Amino acid sequence: MTRLNVESITTNQLEAAANLLQLSPEMRLRLRTPFREITVQVPVLMDDGSVRVCIGHRVQHNGARGPTKGGVRYHPTVDLDEVRGLATLMTWKTALLDLPFGGAKGGVSVDPSELSRTELERLTRKFTERIAIALGPYRDIPAPDMGTDGQVMAWMLDEYSAKRGYTPAIVTGKPITLGGSYGREAATGRGVMIVMREAAREYGIPWKGGTAALQGFGNVGSHLASFLYEEGVRIVAVTDATGGVFSDSGLDIPALTKHVHSTHGVAGFEGGDPLTNEKLWSVPCDYMIPAALGGVITKEDNANELACRVLVEAANGPTTPIADKILAERGILVLPDFLANAGGVVVSYFEWTQNLQQFRWDEEQVNSALEKKMVAAYREVAGVAREHDVTLRTAAYAIALRRVAEAEEMRGL
Ligand code: NAD
Repeated sequence: MTRLNVESITTNQLEAAANLLQLSPEMRLRLRTPFREITVQVPVLMDDGSVRVCIGHRVQHNGARGPTKGGVRYHPTVDLDEVRGLATLMTWKTALLDLPFGGAKGGVSVDPSELSRTELERLTRKFTERIAIALGPYRDIPAPDMGTDGQVMAWMLDEYSAKRGYTPAIVTGKPITLGGSYGREAATGRGVMIVMREAAREYGIPWKGGTAALQGFGNVGSHLASFLYEEGVRIVAVTDATGGVFSDSGLDIPALTKHVHSTHGVAGFEGGDPLTNEKLWSVPCDYMIPAALGGVITKEDNANELACRVLVEAANGPTTPIADKILAERGILVLPDFLANAGGVVVSYFEWTQNLQQFRWDEEQVNSALEKKMVAAYREVAGVAREHDVTLRTAAYAIALRRVAEAEEMRGL
């Protein structure tokens, strides 16, 4: 699989919007350059008594608009370049949704499925300890991403609080018992569905009875699939790290969810025919949804083969800049990542504010506030795209860049 070329994806995407806003070369440089990058050694005591050393990173890209915010990824392909690019995307995402945050990202180069629960806990505690100097509820607030979940956040919270006093606002995406927010776990998937529905209305793309194909059935993919299924969208293909399934008449998503819970993967699901990740991209559908790794839609591999009307970027950074151009030429609408998958950070923001106030919202309040935010962001982006005759991605960048540039300018050097 082609790796995410973060430098080219984020830099390239940013330029079109920076030109639209006529930003000065100095401001472009300030917006492009990360504020702080930390690389740490993470030694882990394994259950057999041996010691394994992993490498971890935390990049704080820009904090002009507030404390930096972004997930922690555990995956073997994690490196500083990837974390830097993902941190940059978080700056644009929080600005686009008008949240009082900047952007950050963290990660450890490790395959969490190879670790026991106790090894995973020791890894998480050591990583937290080594980056804690740069964290804080008003400084930098991690959240889950690929390979991490509420339990990992609980260990991070405990490790941080043990030395600094009880600090629930230090991470979001926590279990409800520890101050997590109702609706946070499903928030990214719910947000993707809301943006898809808005785009379907505007562009006249089939919704009820429309078809979708999906890569990734983890936190984002599985919740999104359930919401689409409830809405009456027919999901014809799903793949994950273990393999995939296809059914022209639509997959039974509740049954697939049960299968994935019990076998830890999509492969082997009997309600469809086997499908590889390579073949997924040419499946004819209305909505093609990468919801796993970045850098998967490329000129070399599949940009010319996609047979969809809309590419929904539920994953972060799934499309390379050249592939993006090909899709535009082919008339395929792209719902850009930092708009489509922003639901998670929106509800993370709600969780953080609830923690700071020691107060809890009910799920209905969370979901309706999320809906409002996502619809407003989509409409603002669509409006700018229409006004300037640019893609949704360039429009989203223009809105986000303007907000961050204004904050940078006002705060001064
Ligand atoms: P997850 O770890 O819960 O699930 C990841 C999924 O990707 C799994 O189904 C896994 O099998 C699949 N996968 C991993 N490697 C693969 C490969 N080589 N080929 C095919 N499938 C593969 O992760 P998640 O939290 O659902 O995140 C998925 C994507 O969404 C990531 O790009 C992440 O950055 C982005 N995202 C997540 C959130 C969030 O709130 N969790 C928010 C915004 C964006």
